[in-house]
Amino acid sequence: MVKIETILGAIAKEYNLKKKMMYIYGDLNGYTVKINEDLENYASKLIVCYTIKMGDVEKEAIKKALEDLDEENQKKKILSSEMEPVNLFKKYSLEKYYILDDSVQFKFISTTPKFKEKFFEFVTWFTNVLSETGIKKHVCPICGMEIENDKDWFLVDYKVYHAHEKCINYMNEKNENDNSVIEKEDQGSYLTGIIGAILGSIIGSLIYIWLGVNGYWTFYVTPFMSGLAVFLYNKFNGRRSKNKKYILGSVVFIMVILADIARVVIIVANEINKYMGQNMPINYILDVAINFIIDREYKYMIPYILLGEVFAVISLIGALKSDITNIKKLKIKKLS
Ligand SMILES: [Zn+2]
Repeated sequence: MVKIETILGAIAKEYNLKKKMMYIYGDLNGYTVKINEDLENYASKLIVCYTIKMGDVEKEAIKKALEDLDEENQKKKILSSEMEPVNLFKKYSLEKYYILDDSVQFKFISTTPKFKEKFFEFVTWFTNVLSETGIKKHVCPICGMEIENDKDWFLVDYKVYHAHEKCINYMNEKNENDNSVIEKEDQGSYLTGIIGAILGSIIGSLIYIWLGVNGYWTFYVTPFMSGLAVFLYNKFNGRRSKNKKYILGSVVFIMVILADIARVVIIVANEINKYMGQNMPINYILDVAINFIIDREYKYMIPYILLGEVFAVISLIGALKSDITNIKKLKIKKLS
């Protein structure tokens, strides 16, 4: 098994690519690439991403070339709509490829000792495919014009771009505008969203109360309250905007406190009813329970509630981060 650092190092040396902590990048025979390692089931894979702007014609031509290569190896192939999983191209240790609008990505199995030579051979082959397809070298993948400045390298959402700085800025602005259009067009309502969030956290609260009354710890239930609140906020067509996180945060925060008060009230009610030998009126029970909380129980409740709130907030942040309705921003970093 050959270590991946050795392979990345050898490739960087061969093509004069620049090194970063986790990847190498640069101009590979005139085309922009980023190469990194990916661990998959403990096996080391090499991910090669060419950033190229392509039209449908170019995409088809590249796909055809790769398919012909696959046929050469007489392997079966499974087609899916957007990605192209293919069986191993033995010749180059290639496992899979993906053709997207702005990039072509390859996954290589990189553990064989002869991999380095196979990879160099593949690069030569693919460079020819790209030139024959008519994709020009040393051009900005955004505007398609020639790029002279060798300093303009950017990392955009984990892809490397060798592009004009103004084109990167333009792409970023366009992305933000596209997203704000989506936001404006969204006709969701705060009211229905809040109802959904309250309903979701009430369901979570019932479990919280039941566990608490029966003498179990409850703080670990609060992430469930957060998750259900987010889920039902979306299901009830809650408005997708910056305020969403504040609404959900407030609802869940208040519901954790209310759930714990309800837990204590029910425990007090059970005690009173047992002591009196009959079911006492609800306003009498509430009166005793609230006084009990104010007099001494709050000292035990506050740290307990805080523990639940911490768990609720952490999971709420997590749930909102993975929430598909969040506005997506490009992560842009200039590479030195
Ligand atoms: Zn440009």
